[in-house]
Amino acid sequence: MAKATAAKKAPGTAALPRPVVPKIVAPRGYRQVSSILVDAGGSWGAKLLKGQVVRFIDLEGQQAVDFLCYNASDTRDRYNAANTMKMAENLYLNTGTVLYGEYATPLMKVVASNCPNHDTIGGCCSVEINQLRYNRRTHSCRSNFLHELGKFRMGEPDVVANVNWFMSVPIGADGHMAISDSPSKPGAFVDVEALTDVLAVISNCPQKYNPACGYNPTPVQVEVYSKSGR
Ligand SMILES: [Zn+2]
Repeated sequence: MAKATAAKKAPGTAALPRPVVPKIVAPRGYRQVSSILVDAGGSWGAKLLKGQVVRFIDLEGQQAVDFLCYNASDTRDRYNAANTMKMAENLYLNTGTVLYGEYATPLMKVVASNCPNHDTIGGCCSVEINQLRYNRRTHSCRSNFLHELGKFRMGEPDVVANVNWFMSVPIGADGHMAISDSPSKPGAFVDVEALTDVLAVISNCPQKYNPACGYNPTPVQVEVYSKSGR
């Protein structure tokens, strides 16, 4: 589960100020079943049942949340970015976009968001690509994914082209692409519904050397909702 920020403080040490979780109403007809703060650079993973909604909240703005999901009944049926873009006829993920799996299974659906154009072409940061691009060895989303996937007995072959909630990757008319300043404001959120039972994992991106996280990684909140009465 998440590396949640410790609520206790050690004697003689000052507790870090806890980000204020913005009050965003629950999806209509749903009740909250969990709410976890994921530290800057931390990770989270869980099984979500069909019909549940996971909400990611960018508490301080401009924070990329790298995401993957898998069909819980057959994890080979994992998120497939190309299938998702083909079916949406769009490069970006917005409200209404269905996240398709390797076997073209509708795995999840974006049901609400107040931030436009979530990315699925920029991929995740890794030790190797940070070394190549920035000549730095760093903590990375790839290692966070491997940490979370290990809990579900998955590993390197299961890290595929991912979603980057809140990350901005504009495409120029000439095909130029680059990670750019995110329009994500403090309190930006995205709600994603499980269309079948899924395993979902995130890396709260630790990137400091490009604008994915505004050069300053910050915490995010992860909330899970079930339909009321269940
Ligand atoms: Zn990253």
